[in-house]
Amino acid sequence: MSLTIPTNAPPAYHLLVKPTGAVCNLDCKYCFFLSKEALYPGSRFRMADDLLEIYIRQLLESHRTPEVTIAWQGGEPTLMGLDFFRRSIEYVEQYKKPGQRVVYTIQTNGTKIDDEWAAFFKAYDFLVGLSVDGPREMHDTYRVNKGGEGSFDQVMRGWEYLKKYGVEYNILCTVHAANQDHGAEVYRFFRDELKTQFIQFIPIVERATEETLPLALEGWRERPLYQQTGDLVTNRSVGSEAYGRFLIDVFEEWVRRDVGEVYVQIFDVTLGSWVGQHNLCIFAPTCGNALALEHTGDLYACDHYVEPDYLLGNIRDTHMIELIASDKQRQFGRDKAETLPQYCLECDVRFACHGGCPRNRFIHTPDGEPGLNYLCAGYKLFFHHVERPMRIMANLLRANQAPAEIMKLYAVEDDGLDIKQFANVGRNDPCPCGSGKKFKHCHGRAR
Ligand code: SF4
Ligand code: SF4
Repeated sequence: MSLTIPTNAPPAYHLLVKPTGAVCNLDCKYCFFLSKEALYPGSRFRMADDLLEIYIRQLLESHRTPEVTIAWQGGEPTLMGLDFFRRSIEYVEQYKKPGQRVVYTIQTNGTKIDDEWAAFFKAYDFLVGLSVDGPREMHDTYRVNKGGEGSFDQVMRGWEYLKKYGVEYNILCTVHAANQDHGAEVYRFFRDELKTQFIQFIPIVERATEETLPLALEGWRERPLYQQTGDLVTNRSVGSEAYGRFLIDVFEEWVRRDVGEVYVQIFDVTLGSWVGQHNLCIFAPTCGNALALEHTGDLYACDHYVEPDYLLGNIRDTHMIELIASDKQRQFGRDKAETLPQYCLECDVRFACHGGCPRNRFIHTPDGEPGLNYLCAGYKLFFHHVERPMRIMANLLRANQAPAEIMKLYAVEDDGLDIKQFANVGRNDPCPCGSGKKFKHCHGRAR
């Protein structure tokens, strides 16, 4: 039977799929997702083979774009074992439409990666997201195994295998109390030691209520189902302004050396907003096209809202595209814009921020309106700080030039020189700084 796609369905959407549900071999202290086991008491937490087939068929047939992403996440998805992923590739081959290109991504803690996994990832061009929180001490503060020991060595072993097989990877780094004051150090570790070209920073904001805070502060000895409620945060959470300072610290290093070489997601997304594009739900006006699929086939509004109130239905009963196009999910996406407090509506950086993710909107504005983002102060710091360089890079893009050109400006200004002297200098001309070198070997090149 041919599929009828609802007229209000998005042409593409993003599903984070959790084949092991919340099950993981680590016990990261800040992990909100481990508690989601409570949603499925008695479950084996393994996606069944027939459901795997249903998922892939529905995903491929309901996309109306040439590229489709299959995104595995957890819990720890590698606990499913390699055969599960091999079967997923077979189903893709079976259901792929002519001309459709499938991109594979997997988010992993890296501890299970060995020769076999790395060879498989390479063979199918997986983009592997590896969770690392910085150098050993910072990483091991919260990313611990079930025995409470740091996981740094195991993760680095996984990273070695990725390198050995030439697998493409990006680093997902959560920002929290243990690394928030070390932005440049964390960034240099990823760039210089892990040789990564792609980095995502994710702020840890662990919400709690008066009742759950004591348990949370003990490190969730028992984990009650984590829900987006409460206006308190744990002491592991990143401070709002500290998050802004962390990003600025990284930016100051990046903008001088690595533009065009290292892709830091939030910098890319911010530059996008300066040229009128919104590439990440968090900073887009609306959301609702980034959902989460549990191991049972239950589809939730978002990875951060795997909670009973945000369950849309099960893809065994209803095609995922109908659930995605449902009034409930469309309204979820519109709420992001419709619930903004006046303070955000009048904000000079709203075009880049759009109030951030609704999950973090639990503080009050200075005049007492609820619904302001906990990270607002940090966002304001960061977006104001990068205003001038973003404007310059946006202008370079509009002029069909590489944003990396901005590094020359920083090189000149950092040496206390006047940029006007450098206008119209040819690459082989003497550098106007008086060094005697050619411009291309002096201020005309990136550091
Ligand atoms: S709730 Fe937040 S993370 Fe989820 S889709 Fe909306 S903006 Fe994105
Ligand atoms: S920076 Fe703050 S006030 Fe401005 S849009 Fe973002 S959350 Fe709202």
